[in-house]
Formats: sequence, structure tokens, C-alpha cells
Amino acid sequence: MNDYSKILKTIQKFETIIIHRHVRPDPDALGSQVGLQKLLQYNYPSKRILVTGIDEPSLGWLSKMDEVKEEDYQGALVIVTDTANKERIDDQRYLLGAQLIKIDHHPNDEPYGDIVWVDTTASSCSEMIARFAFDHDLEVTPEIAFLLYAGILGDTGRFLYPSTTAKTFDVAGRLRQYDFDFAGLSRRMDSMDYRIAKLTGYVYDHLEVDQNGAARVILSQETLAAYQVTDADTSAIVPAPGRIDAVQTWAVFVEQKDGSYRVRLRSKVVPINTIAKGHGGGGHPLASGANSYSLAENDAIYQEIQEVVANAVK
Ligand code: AMP
Repeated sequence: MNDYSKILKTIQKFETIIIHRHVRPDPDALGSQVGLQKLLQYNYPSKRILVTGIDEPSLGWLSKMDEVKEEDYQGALVIVTDTANKERIDDQRYLLGAQLIKIDHHPNDEPYGDIVWVDTTASSCSEMIARFAFDHDLEVTPEIAFLLYAGILGDTGRFLYPSTTAKTFDVAGRLRQYDFDFAGLSRRMDSMDYRIAKLTGYVYDHLEVDQNGAARVILSQETLAAYQVTDADTSAIVPAPGRIDAVQTWAVFVEQKDGSYRVRLRSKVVPINTIAKGHGGGGHPLASGANSYSLAENDAIYQEIQEVVANAVK
């Protein structure tokens, strides 16, 4: 029996199930986590299904976390969605349960857990949860479809990124059959508040692009304060440089309160996750994240990007 086919049987054995996802959640982290919660709660009404992690205020419209106590973990099954490595799991109590399942679509750099279901061909973890529901004939409600559809929209850039496959469309098509506010959701995922629009202007104004399309921009604490945006808000501007045709690969350096930088790397074709791994991070080949501890390290990362892009055009 492979790990995938063990998951439902394991879920059936537990009365309490606690679902975690990664820190600084995005729509796919929340869509997969809370989509799975609602799916299991609806299909197994007598079980207690809880979600934990820090609420992300900008995504409050999507979901809310539960208050999970330490004693809730006693004899519980813990499932972690959308999280490649242990360090990035939000709420480090994930080890307190009786059994641990990892469900993820990132490269399986750290295969933690008793059962590991990783599918790097899936566009999103939400796509995996939807497939799991359909494969096992579980009942899906409009609320569950909404959450999973939101996760898929988030991680595919609304079906724009190369990770979008025929399977993605198949699953999305099946979710779309449920009666949720599809147009409202798409509009919400496509809209930004005025501060973000202005910050996008700053990004375009300050983007440095070399002759091969390697680009970078730094958002200092001063800039974040001037535009009244938080670190979490910057996720909305990360795709912006990619809309410029001359840009191939780009890095957004977001200064943190302690003076270090969160590095957000994106690429249209050339993989950049090896560069991210070299700087305490990782991720998908075309969408990765890392950490940098100085302006000099920012320069070094940009230089590495310039090199891989230059080699690719040779
Ligand atoms: P972000 O730029 O934060 O949206 O991250 C893009 C992707 O990179 C995420 O989906 C993660 O897979 C990965 N990632 C970001 N930061 C890290 C990190 N510090 N360590 C490992 N992977 C990361």
C-alpha cells in the first residue's frame, strides 16, 4: 500500500485531527489547510478537526484559525499541508500528536512525517486536496470548493504559471460546479488596495534590470513605512516585475525589522531554487524564497541570478 492510499484509512482511525500549514500563509496554504478541515468535518461530523497557526490579517476573508490547546494533541492525528520543511511549519507543536502526515507539492527536500504524500506535479496543495476528495468520493460543499479554488488560483497566478496542468483544469472545473461566488473570488484575487498599487509603482520605478533580463529591487524598512505596507503585503507585488517582457528572472529583497532580508525569487524559465537553497531557503524551481543578512549578500544573490540567466541565454 503506498502512502497516498494510507491517508484516508489513517484519518478514519482518529477522533481528533489537527491541521497545520506554513508560516506567513498564502491562499494555497490556507485553502489546503482549511479546505481539508471543512472536507473532513463535513464527511466525518463526529470527529474534531482543528486548524492552527497565526491568522494572516490580509487573508482573514478566506479563513480563521482555531484555538488549539496543548492537550488537544493527545492521541491526535496531525496533518501538515503545503510545507516542505519542518522549520517552516506554523505552530511547532505539530510533533505532539500520535501520528504525522505530510501533504505537499514542493520538492520533498525534507520528508518528515509517518506518511508522506508529495506530488511536485501538482500546481498547488489545494489541487491535491481536491483530487483526494474526488478520488475518494468525499462530499464537497460550496464552501470547500471555494477554499480549494482560491488556493489553486493563488498558486497558479490564476492559471498563468507553467505549473498549471490539464489535471489542474480538470480539478478546477469540477470545483467550479459548486455554487460559490466565483466572480467575487476572482475579483478579490485580482484586486489590490491603493497602498499596494502605489508600491507597485515604486517597484517599477526602482527595478534594476540587466541586459539579459535579471532584475532586482530592494524594499527597505523605510520604504515599507513610507507606503504603509507590511512584510506580508509585499506578496502582492512579487509577480509585478514578471509582467515586463524584458524581465526573465527577478529578486525582491524585503528588509525585516532586524535588518536581515527576506528574498523572494521568481523566474519565467531558468530554475532559481538552487540559489535559494544556498542562502538558507528553498522552494519551487521557478518560485523560491531565501534569507539574506546584508546588502553584500543581496549583491551576491543578484550576481548568482545574473550568472544563471546569462548562461541560459548563451
Ligand atoms: P515566497 O516568495 O515567500 O512567496 O516563497 C515562494 C516559495 O518559496 C514558497 O512557496 C516556498 O516554497 C519557498 N520558500 C520561501 N521562503 C523559503 C524559506 N525560507 N525556506 C524554504 N523555502 C522557502
